[in-house]
Amino acid sequence: MSKSTNSRDTVAGVAVPTSLFINGAWRQSNGGRLFDVADPATGKVIATVSDADTTDAEEALAAAAQAQQTWGLTSPRERAAILLAAFYAVQAKRHEIAAVITAEMGRPLAESLAEVDYGAEFLRWFAEQTAHVHGDYGPSPSGAFRVVTTKVPVGPSLLITPWNFPLAMGTRKIGAALAAGCTVILKPAAQTPLTAALLVEILADVGVPDGVVNLIPTNDAGGQSKALMNDARLRKVSFTGSTTVGSVLLRQAADHVLKSSMELGGNGPFLVLHDADVDAAVDGAMIAKFRNGGQSCVAANRFIVHKNVADRFTAELADRTAALKVGEGTIAGVGVGPLIDARQRDKVHELVADAVQRGARALCGGSLIEGEGYFYAPTVLADVPSDARINHEEIFGPVAPITVVESDEEAIRLANDTPYGLAAFVYTGDGARAFTVAERLEAGMIGINRGLVSEAGAPFGGIKASGLGREGGHLGIEEYLETKYFALDLTVPSARNEGAAL
Ligand code: NAD
Repeated sequence: MSKSTNSRDTVAGVAVPTSLFINGAWRQSNGGRLFDVADPATGKVIATVSDADTTDAEEALAAAAQAQQTWGLTSPRERAAILLAAFYAVQAKRHEIAAVITAEMGRPLAESLAEVDYGAEFLRWFAEQTAHVHGDYGPSPSGAFRVVTTKVPVGPSLLITPWNFPLAMGTRKIGAALAAGCTVILKPAAQTPLTAALLVEILADVGVPDGVVNLIPTNDAGGQSKALMNDARLRKVSFTGSTTVGSVLLRQAADHVLKSSMELGGNGPFLVLHDADVDAAVDGAMIAKFRNGGQSCVAANRFIVHKNVADRFTAELADRTAALKVGEGTIAGVGVGPLIDARQRDKVHELVADAVQRGARALCGGSLIEGEGYFYAPTVLADVPSDARINHEEIFGPVAPITVVESDEEAIRLANDTPYGLAAFVYTGDGARAFTVAERLEAGMIGINRGLVSEAGAPFGGIKASGLGREGGHLGIEEYLETKYFALDLTVPSARNEGAAL
């Protein structure tokens, strides 16, 4: 089957581009290959997308490198105006975009709308940052000359995004890159290329110049990125995804010492201390665990609960979890949609089965749901032994394993017993304890009496095996800027224009 140059498929009533976007034009891949996109709620194909090969990737990089010459010189206000227009355009299409997110990754529609609002905010936030990129001027320590610094765009950037937040992971990178004056090549996850196509179409519509944003969906992510990262015109890779793939990319980046930002996996501990407001902790746990069906890098992975509040917390969490409605994201009242694919659903079940086999008790759920799609019953596990795999691996599913502890010390020790360090959560009624515990948690982001940390105006990122760099907040734009330093000597006479009227 072949497609026309600027093809579209209708998904959830929305006409979505299914081609590549290179140098301002929608077109098919050079090799003419296509790949399918399926709805995880049914397993059925909803669209067929052009599959970029390495020659397409090379053309996208050539376009980005060419456009960099002019985009990097635009004024901050010009870039801000385009980003702000994109913010309003995304908002205006929030229902269409949300419908497509739900169709390609399964999430309940209300959550998809929330992602559109969150994702759009990065465009507004970075529009606001464009005019706040500053340098320094000051004496060298000896006083012999002046130290002057300025910031310049890094250059053409490869942006690789995951499927779990198909809009926001794109805007978080594109917003920062464009604000800094970098051109980009966006490589969305093969499971969710449609939302990315809608975003790129909006960016083109609001006036992003040709070549500044290029889109190359592919089913051969490894081959494509290897080819691009081997090309010296590429100046930056920004990746969000698993730690396994992030490590591969870092090794490839080493060859050309390519500037790299890595937003990787997590294993978020959720601490409920002895003096916590248990109702608030359960509210926070429901968000931290079941948002996106647990398929979030900042999801609570392990619940570490003090023995004094463990019975109540566990019972309330199990009641609320058992009451969650599971189903297609388009059905009203559904709180948990399908997992992204059969592989992910089976992995979640493997982790649950391992924990149960080691002595954990499933208070609700504990099984996959037979039939169409990739659904898993929301699960609470009690008495989870510390050596269970579920305590050490990222679950990425609607399962809450609970471990009971006797002290804050034990809670902190277990929380930090992981190679990851992305998000953590702590619930306590004592403000000082909240900070003394949070300071000792090895994580890049800590929710204190709050189950949601994501925010465009805050620095998002991890420590340890969870990544390098920050996205969003004031630091986000820095990932796409280089600092350039001028050593300025004011004493050299030739610097004066002799005879000129001052
Ligand atoms: P993944 O690593 O399999 O894929 C992420 C992206 O990388 C996709 O676009 C994929 O096509 C691409 N990819 C896969 N293999 C590649 C290779 N060899 N070279 C280049 N690109 C390659 O991850 P996923 O399953 O799509 O996403 C889930 C993971 O992402 C989880 O571990 C989650 O924690 C993490 N994540 C992290 C953040 C964060 O900000 N830290 C945010 C969302 C998701």
